[in-house]
Amino acid sequence: MDQIIERSLGDVTGAGDQLMWIDGEAVAALAGGTIDIFNPSNGARIGTSPAGLAADIDRAVQAARRSFKSGVWSRMPGAARQKILWRAADMIEARAAEIATVEALNAGQLYPFAQAMVHGAVELLRYFAGWATKIHGLTSEISGPMGQFHAYTLRDPIGVAGMIVPWNVPFGLVMTKLGAALAAGCSCVVKPSEETPYSALMLVRILEEAGVPKGVVNVVTGYGHEAGAALAEHPDVDKIAFTGSTEIGKRIVRAAAGNLKKVTLELGGKSPVIMFDDADLAKAIPSTAMGIFLHSGQICIAGSRLYVQRKIFDQVMAGLAGAAASLKIGDAFSPATQIGPLISARQRERVSELVASGVAGGATLVAGGQVHGEQGFYFQPTVLAHPKADSRVIREEIFGPVITANVFDEFDEVLEAANDSTFGLASTVYTTDISKAHRAAKALQAGFVWINCHFVSDPSLPGGGFKQSGWGREMGAEGLDAYLQTKSVFTSLNG
Ligand code: NAD
Repeated sequence: MDQIIERSLGDVTGAGDQLMWIDGEAVAALAGGTIDIFNPSNGARIGTSPAGLAADIDRAVQAARRSFKSGVWSRMPGAARQKILWRAADMIEARAAEIATVEALNAGQLYPFAQAMVHGAVELLRYFAGWATKIHGLTSEISGPMGQFHAYTLRDPIGVAGMIVPWNVPFGLVMTKLGAALAAGCSCVVKPSEETPYSALMLVRILEEAGVPKGVVNVVTGYGHEAGAALAEHPDVDKIAFTGSTEIGKRIVRAAAGNLKKVTLELGGKSPVIMFDDADLAKAIPSTAMGIFLHSGQICIAGSRLYVQRKIFDQVMAGLAGAAASLKIGDAFSPATQIGPLISARQRERVSELVASGVAGGATLVAGGQVHGEQGFYFQPTVLAHPKADSRVIREEIFGPVITANVFDEFDEVLEAANDSTFGLASTVYTTDISKAHRAAKALQAGFVWINCHFVSDPSLPGGGFKQSGWGREMGAEGLDAYLQTKSVFTSLNG
């Protein structure tokens, strides 16, 4: 670990002044602009990336289209694609410490969390590598008034896929999209967050070293309203896969209307956590604390709205306040740190402003509530009790280490409150009553339901949002489907 701390302060491979990646080459933005990149643990500038504009996006889309049309990847046999993707997964695994260092340095992920995210991404790529040899259509015995036919379906890659991702889990979120797209045979243009461009640039180089042909994966760095908007609007992009806020998700939908590109959206959340009074509190309280404070709450599936049954409310508040107060805040590389920074000063201001609005609206501050330290972008783990149901801290995603807590008495009452949200991404239930747990799981309007656990996911199971938390699913067979389109073929058997 000491060695890693030293490297983080020096010249980390993959950080510093980087170029973007188009058609197998590292290139600057055509207009020459750059964006400063920061380390959120201390606020220091650590390098730059190019400020790509519409012309750079166009260049990348043309490279992706050429590679798609040539068939160099889209028509490569599935077994060959699988082998290359598996090799890439091995190479990423071998360089996991380096990639995790860049994520910790640039995204403020605690180093062990960054390592776990990179290993998760490796498993995800292996999972999708396996799908490359399992893309099947179906056959159908059809016979109707028109006679007899041999009929079957073919699954074609959708074409050129644009991918736009946020800053919280940069490497993992790019991999979720690329794994499925590459298994399906698509060519891709990735637009990482302007705040965290480095790990996507490392990934594209590894993919090409592993054998993905040039032009199949292109990475254009730049601001959302410039490079991102140009990608979403581009008439030669067939599909956009977006992860980010609900507000920008709506803009993506509007931008995609020009050529009716297919759109999948992984958006924000305001996920309820229901704690019944028969819960095993020795496990439920630490699990709830982890479910909101991990990565300083900058996880779309964080459990940010807690509902506690009346009998145990005070005990749970004391437990959560104790957990919040005991967490050691600090640099992403320090082994003692338990909660790291927010991504930027802007994000810290937003969290601070929302917490203040909750308190002004009558909520009780049970723990935290303040900016922490003078360097870096830290905010104390915070617990707000009894906010009003229509307050902003209940209705809006905070994306910080802030949990609200309200009391409930009855099952139906709490399910009603839990579902009373424009979001529907994740939800959690703590109870030792198995039938109550599954009744709640059935009633909850969310893409994930966790019973007596939090943050569990697997590449084989789809993830995505109900309501305004998204369109479509990533991971699992449904994740692959998002990069394929189906064709029905009919052959006459009528002599
Ligand atoms: P954001 O919506 O501001 O930005 C996400 C990406 O969109 C960035 O790359 C940004 O440059 C780009 N962008 C911004 N404006 C754009 C425009 N007009 N056109 C095209 N692209 C544009 O989100 P953020 O602040 O980077 O990330 C936090 C959000 O991401 C939270 O709402 C969080 O819930 C969400 N998120 C969702 C998931 C999920 O799987 N559902 C996962 C992680 C994060």
